[in-house]
Amino acid sequence: MTVAYVIAAPCIGVKDKSCAAVCPVECIHEGTVEVDGVTYDQLFVDGSECIDCGLCQPECPADAVFSSEDLPGKWKHFIQINNEFFKSGIRV
Ligand code: SF4
Repeated sequence: MTVAYVIAAPCIGVKDKSCAAVCPVECIHEGTVEVDGVTYDQLFVDGSECIDCGLCQPECPADAVFSSEDLPGKWKHFIQINNEFFKSGIRV
């Protein structure tokens, strides 16, 4: 799945949801997914619906939202985690 925007580690346990409130296509979802034995409890962007508008990014008080091109190297694996959420994650 192509991912335009990615929510990374600073969202874990925070889940402020200001990003979801401004998303015009309501493609930001809360839930959990387990990857390599680690459970990620955060918000996730559905790349199949995201229109790449960027409105979510400045809303996040934890600075957890990045365009996939600008995602810091230490958090590149959140692209895979995000994709996995929409395959096997649990939405709340
Ligand atoms: Fe929603 Fe726009 Fe953010 Fe994509 S970039 S998740 S469409 S607010």
